[in-house]
Amino acid sequence: MNNILELKNVDYTYHTPQGETNALSNISLCIEDGEFISIVGPSGCGKSTLLSIIAGLIKPSNGTIKFKGNNIGYMLQKDHLFEWRSIYKNITLGLEIQNKLDKSHIENVNNMLSTYGLERFKNSRPSELSGGMRQRAALIRTLALEPDLLLLDEPFSALDYQTRLQVCDDIYSIIKKEGKTAILVTHDLSEAISIGGRVIVLTKRPGKIKKIIDLKYPEEYSTPFLARNAPEFKNYFNLVWKEVK
Ligand code: ADP
Ligand code: MG
Repeated sequence: MNNILELKNVDYTYHTPQGETNALSNISLCIEDGEFISIVGPSGCGKSTLLSIIAGLIKPSNGTIKFKGNNIGYMLQKDHLFEWRSIYKNITLGLEIQNKLDKSHIENVNNMLSTYGLERFKNSRPSELSGGMRQRAALIRTLALEPDLLLLDEPFSALDYQTRLQVCDDIYSIIKKEGKTAILVTHDLSEAISIGGRVIVLTKRPGKIKKIIDLKYPEEYSTPFLARNAPEFKNYFNLVWKEVK
């Protein structure tokens, strides 16, 4: 398989007038094209910092990072949809800014709107949508720019528990269907385990890789929601729990 992303011995230290904060230490990690991995770790251990480094927003203090795609998409806890634009206008905002509102990109957006159940809400304002629909709209906005790699920073944590289970399933299937590589950061162990693939456990700050756990569920448990009922789920949970404790 091809690695789309390679990090080697990455450290990161924040420098502020108050002093230095060593946020990440010696992170080495390869991610294959098409993988969906989760990163868990205690609050403040450097998870968001790691995504900012991968996104190229900040440069590592030490170490190297190689990204072999063209384009990275970022999705956050808040959907950042603008109330003064319709859902369609929100979704196409990035394309508009990047001067990419051409026929093929517009067609792609319209296809996603209809495939993922938002066509009827094209002309609605964000406040008219449920929290789950808004997150789907935010994902389509991110996908509209055709990223090779998606970074998801606690994208479900603002949602109530039931919505969160549903939206996690929705977002997971959309990402799989579109064949994207994704990194999900979460502090919710069950959520991380339900995704399948690999879970990377970070230590408390400065975040180091404590353990990488491979997860595999039988075919009939192939979505995050179903995986929670798989016989393996409990064992995986205990394995990860032992590492973060
Ligand atoms: P997480 O996402 O795992 O909760 P972060 O990556 O946001 O953790 O932060 C890691 C550590 O770096 C924390 O101690 C945080 O206070 C510190 N930190 C984050 N951003 C900054 C910043 N811009 N300046 C200084 N320190 C920061
Ligand atoms: Mg964070």
